[in-house]
Amino acid sequence: MTDKNKRFTKGIIRKREDLTSDLWKVWIEPGEKFNFDPGQYCTVGYKDIERPYSIASSPDEDLIELFIELVPKPLGNLTPLLHKLNVGAEITLRKRPKGIFKFQSQFKNHIMISTVTGVAPFVSMIRSIDFKNTDYKIWIFEGASFIDEFGYSNELTSVSKTNEKISFTPTCSRPDDPKNSSWKGVTGRVNKIFSSIYDLENIEKEDTILYACGHPDMVSDVEKKYSNKFNFIEEKFWKP
Ligand SMILES: Cc1cc2nc3c(=O)[nH]c(=O)nc-3n(C[C@H](O)[C@H](O)[C@H](O)COP(=O)(O)OP(=O)(O)OC[C@H]3O[C@@H](n4cnc5c(N)ncnc54)[C@H](O)[C@@H]3O)c2cc1C
Repeated sequence: MTDKNKRFTKGIIRKREDLTSDLWKVWIEPGEKFNFDPGQYCTVGYKDIERPYSIASSPDEDLIELFIELVPKPLGNLTPLLHKLNVGAEITLRKRPKGIFKFQSQFKNHIMISTVTGVAPFVSMIRSIDFKNTDYKIWIFEGASFIDEFGYSNELTSVSKTNEKISFTPTCSRPDDPKNSSWKGVTGRVNKIFSSIYDLENIEKEDTILYACGHPDMVSDVEKKYSNKFNFIEEKFWKP
């Protein structure tokens, strides 16, 4: 086995769902069993360009589900190529998942803050946690400029209605844009609104972990304001 074969397997795109012209979900069948922990990412490659992508599926699912945003040319390198790939196309996948941005089971309260595709690791966590016999309380916040960018809104709203331990708050940062005219939910940037909605004074800090994932400016802002108040972990999707 060559060194490359030891590190890589192939991935076949089995399903694709476009949410907008620059946001899509893709389901990949790995060439071999792909074990990971909820919250981790996989490394996807095409034509020798590789990038990390947080996994939205749970480890129990056969296909690896990703939620990807197109960074158009000339800035973006891999996403303009991935965006052209349809069902049946082959990509490469590093065999090892990576990342320490995982569900922190030692805490009772979990506040998860994300922008758009940054919700992916939280979806994986929610799909994986066995809520029976636990007293976890989970608050998921997702910010987006446009309401069609909330890729997991149906799933997370539905799960929050049937499980009192989970709350989901999507917030639209551009409510005045005509594209968002039907929005009746929370408005404002996610890094600003979560503290006003969630009574931060009323929780035990040592029982609480704050996760922030996605846009680097949002993550940095949350980090600056809250990392000395709560246990905190972060995943920035790119360098600003
Ligand atoms: C741990 C980790 C997990 C990630 N998970 C996801 C995920 O689940 N979904 C996802 O879509 N991306 C995710 N990313 C980002 C992803 O790895 C790529 O960087 C992104 O898809 C752009 O790839 P590219 O090759 O097209 O552009 P690149 O060549 O990587 O980027 C070129 C430049 O574009 C800017 N940039 C990169 N991404 C964005 C963006 N989204 N919006 C605006 N500017 C950007 C940066 O300034 C960068 O220098 C993750 C990144 C990390 C580090």
